Amino acid sequence: MTEVRTRFAPSPTGFQHIGGFRTAFFAYLLAKHYGGKFLLRVEDTDRERFVPGSIRFLIEELSWFGIQIDEGPTKEELHTYGEDWDDAPGLGGPCGPYMQSLRLPKYKEAAELLIEKGFAYRCDCTPEMLERERNEQMARKELPGYSGYCRTRNVPADKPHVVRFKVPQKRTVSFNDAIRGKVQWDSIPHRDTVLLKSDGFPTYHLAVVVDDHDMKISHALRGIEWLSSTPIHLLLYEAFGWEPPVFAHLPVVNGPDGKKLSKRNNAAKSSDLREQGYLAEAVLNFVTLIGWAPGEGSDQEIFTREELIQKFTLDGINESSGVFDPVKLAWMNGLYIRKLPVQEFIERSKPFLEKEGVVIPEHEFAALAPHVQERVKVLTEVGAMVDFLMDRPLQRQMDAMFGKGVDASKAREILTLSLERLNTLPEFKTEAIDQALRAVATEVGLKPGPAFVALRIAVTGKTITPPLFESFAVLGKDRVLSRIRETLELLPQ
Ligand code: GLU
Repeated sequence: MTEVRTRFAPSPTGFQHIGGFRTAFFAYLLAKHYGGKFLLRVEDTDRERFVPGSIRFLIEELSWFGIQIDEGPTKEELHTYGEDWDDAPGLGGPCGPYMQSLRLPKYKEAAELLIEKGFAYRCDCTPEMLERERNEQMARKELPGYSGYCRTRNVPADKPHVVRFKVPQKRTVSFNDAIRGKVQWDSIPHRDTVLLKSDGFPTYHLAVVVDDHDMKISHALRGIEWLSSTPIHLLLYEAFGWEPPVFAHLPVVNGPDGKKLSKRNNAAKSSDLREQGYLAEAVLNFVTLIGWAPGEGSDQEIFTREELIQKFTLDGINESSGVFDPVKLAWMNGLYIRKLPVQEFIERSKPFLEKEGVVIPEHEFAALAPHVQERVKVLTEVGAMVDFLMDRPLQRQMDAMFGKGVDASKAREILTLSLERLNTLPEFKTEAIDQALRAVATEVGLKPGPAFVALRIAVTGKTITPPLFESFAVLGKDRVLSRIRETLELLPQ
């Protein structure tokens, strides 16, 4: 096989949602599976829809996911767009530029070649003429599009013009989609479409074909919404005399509401997921499984990046749409969090603690970290698990203390006795605290559960924390006793 080269070819028209990144993941995994190259090409031919910052967003997000781009825009290319943030990576490669707005001479040359070969022509029809023509076609219920009026007019090159493709209407076009098998059109669902606009910018059709050829793309992976453009692309390849790449049109990713994820409906944005405490490797794993599975007989769901690379082929991609299920993602993220080495969990939690203003001594956090790790699904939950370690007045959920045989006087009994027993412990360690407090529960005639709820609220303020005795041990005797005393003051007489 010649080198496998895939590309991610987004338009910088806003942030890329997670469904868009899935296209990138698939392209990357396929290239890496075969030891090939993964390219980033910026399809910025629609200048009016350009949203500043969107290329930076793309590159930074791909890097968060740990996806290395083998070829892509250089710093200078990004610079021409005002996208030169300080640590922009210098990508580059042998097929540049990788931003379509910087490749205009190539498209012009390609369009000229097609005119020369008789596959394209110049057209100087005015917008008014086109509009009139379109209305007439609609009235006649014909396929709307350009009628071909200028096909034979030989519009001179020095007049303002567009270049149009001579689309043969009576042609059968077919190809083998790597996911869908044979796809065939018995007539072409386009009329003479524009290839080059009057301002020298190409349309998507011309640019994508010229660039995929020029950049030696072996496999073009893209969303199913582009399938209707494929017959035009195939005809263009034929007209140029070039070999088309293998096409794989990917199924749609729907949101939990059953609607397609899109830039517009503000669906799952990877940067939001990061801020919400998801791990990049969990998101990569989860998103890759939307519409892909490793093959018959395998129900494996958790894959390292290396395993994904090793197992990923186009055969595993589903034809039908997949769903981005946030509940499942949270479950998977929890699993990934539990798999982290403790020290790494601590490091990764730090920015979240900092952001939430949870300032606690490192050794105290480290002592509880293995327990916290077991209990959170996202890193944003860590702060609330350990903020009772901060030296500041506690806000206690006092009401949650009562019920299950515990009223104010019972709570008083539990706390008073606990105070006494804990105070006389020779060593304030988990094991000893455990024994002492179990004995208290028995003595006051309660099951440990309700008794410990009262103690937990007294000492941490809340109902959900790392395990009680460990938490007490980390807080230390003085703080535990003074918090119990404080609570006794708060209890109604
Ligand atoms: N520029 C297109 C997009 O924004 C990509 C189409 C393709 O990959 O051919 O999704």
